[in-house]
Amino acid sequence: MKDRSALATLGAVLTVVAAGVTAASGQVFYGDAPDEHHPWAVHDANRPQPKVVTPGRFSSPVRGKPPSDAVVLFDGTDLSKWEADKKEGGPSKWVVREGAMECTPGSGYIRTKDKFGDCQLHVEWAAPKDVKGDSQGRGNSGIFLEGLCEVQVLDNYNNPTYADGHAASVYGVNPPMANALRPPGEWQVADIVFRRPVYKDGKPVDPGYVTIFVNGVLVQDHTVLEGPTGHKTRPKPGPFPDKGPLKLQDHGNPVRFRNIWYRDLPPRACEGGTDGPLSAQATMAKRKEIAATIRQDAENLKSPDNPLPELLRRMESLQYEKDDATVQKVQEMAARYIDGVRRLPADKIASKKDDVKRLGGALQFLAKFNILPATWPPKVAVEALIKEHRWEK
Ligand code: MG
Repeated sequence: MKDRSALATLGAVLTVVAAGVTAASGQVFYGDAPDEHHPWAVHDANRPQPKVVTPGRFSSPVRGKPPSDAVVLFDGTDLSKWEADKKEGGPSKWVVREGAMECTPGSGYIRTKDKFGDCQLHVEWAAPKDVKGDSQGRGNSGIFLEGLCEVQVLDNYNNPTYADGHAASVYGVNPPMANALRPPGEWQVADIVFRRPVYKDGKPVDPGYVTIFVNGVLVQDHTVLEGPTGHKTRPKPGPFPDKGPLKLQDHGNPVRFRNIWYRDLPPRACEGGTDGPLSAQATMAKRKEIAATIRQDAENLKSPDNPLPELLRRMESLQYEKDDATVQKVQEMAARYIDGVRRLPADKIASKKDDVKRLGGALQFLAKFNILPATWPPKVAVEALIKEHRWEK
């Protein structure tokens, strides 16, 4: 019984796939068609699925676990992914102790050997439990995105300082919206979303942003980056490189870090990404690419016994790119298909009802979005066939 139902399910899936419907990701000829600024239809079955990521485990006092696609920069064991922030690099004098890397005051910044750009970055830090100093002198370090923009690390637990130099400030630019710090000695958890400034031909197309949660509390909300940060100086806007190392600051305090990882982010629309509203030019380029992929797929659906899947797939491609050769081919295939159905013996025609209606639905969709005329001969012919056999319902 179990096997039979599995076979029935498989049969249903195969039928759906054969009809040009991607069962896994939704129906075709369904939502609003691609337009001037959107290469994808609404609810587009051809739009790639989000990649599968196995989530990690949040940190408590116990160190958590990164998600499956994270690049781990420090897992508590060694500094193999780090070097001294000197021209020639080389080993850093920071030390690894009890699962944490600790700044050795006076040894200089430490940087990753990896270079990366837009990312989700996870860093945990702990200020020394033994409280010394005040204001900027207490538990000071820093997380330098691409080595250029400092997200301040400071012990601000009962320790006021200038607001734009507070822990989780974009240093000298924007204070955090809240002070969500735990007492010194405890682990603070920072989750950072970094989008670097993007310039084209010397002009800004996206100023860049940073979003930060500290201990699960939102403290920077899509804060505009104004350029590399500095002490007492206002940032000068300008492009960031595509990639840079992550740097951690030596500010003279033995601040500890653990569980450092990042995930690359996909490109934004302004740099070739295909999500979000795009320029007309970028939209058309992507639409042509999607259409070409679908037409290639249609080649694989060729079947002398059942031309419908190939025909529907080619029709589907027209919503992305209406090219004359495909319109011509679809017209010929549709005419041949309708002719074939009409030639069937009377007792066989009824078996084609669903297929013909599917073709009719696809033609209606393409007419609705002005991709093919409402009076297009194959559409008229299919509608006549449906009417003749009273298949409307
Ligand atoms: Mg600092």
